[in-house]
Amino acid sequence: MFDNIKILYHQGKQFIPNVKTVEVPGIFRGRPVISTLPVDEQAIKSVCPLGAIDTNPVRLNLGKCNFCGECALKFPDKIKFTKDYKLSSNTLEGLIVTEGEDKPITINESLIRPEIRKFFSGSLKLRQVSAAGDNSCELELNASGNVQFDMVRFGVEFVASPRHADGVVITGPISQNMAAALQITYDAIPEPKIIILAGVDAISGGIFANSPALDRSFIDRYKPDLYISGNPVHPLAVINGILGLLGK
Ligand code: SF4
Repeated sequence: MFDNIKILYHQGKQFIPNVKTVEVPGIFRGRPVISTLPVDEQAIKSVCPLGAIDTNPVRLNLGKCNFCGECALKFPDKIKFTKDYKLSSNTLEGLIVTEGEDKPITINESLIRPEIRKFFSGSLKLRQVSAAGDNSCELELNASGNVQFDMVRFGVEFVASPRHADGVVITGPISQNMAAALQITYDAIPEPKIIILAGVDAISGGIFANSPALDRSFIDRYKPDLYISGNPVHPLAVINGILGLLGK
């Protein structure tokens, strides 16, 4: 008992008290802002290896962007990455940042299925499927439950079996080899159930988007409830996205 008090005294509170307003230290690329300065549109479009930049007006698609930062390096007056880690939406259109608009990425409340908040706002158990993921998003999802981010305090946690889960969190671009496993996992989760795509690989295929080794038909069959952008996703993006979906 006395030892525990000593540890508490020396280490203080390890968890982040307010996950909605805390500032991320160090280097972190969050939501970009795009100025209205005139730019060579063909040049800025061609700088992105993932085709995440479109023009007229200049737009950046956070469902495709892998946050490499190349566009901001080449066009520093046009594109800047802020530290805003709220990078989740329930529509793909909601992940598009347009020039001249410095506004947060949001979740469209009117599109949230009523059963999600009715059944899961108090407790949400999730089964994670790494569908050809590279272990980066998986590590960050794991970190969401560590002592610092402590997602469990909001009633949200990962479970080992889809039978115990309320939804699936998919990472990775979904390879052919993982397509059947993903479907089996999803089928094993009782209704009602939710689908969360974590990371740009899951959202769009990322750098693997045109690979013949992918089978993304699952995404065509079922409408995801939440898209969490990032490469990899930041734990604060994960927590804020899920809390936004649950209305917490
Ligand atoms: S940061 Fe995103 S939009 Fe910019 S070049 Fe990299 S992938 Fe493309």
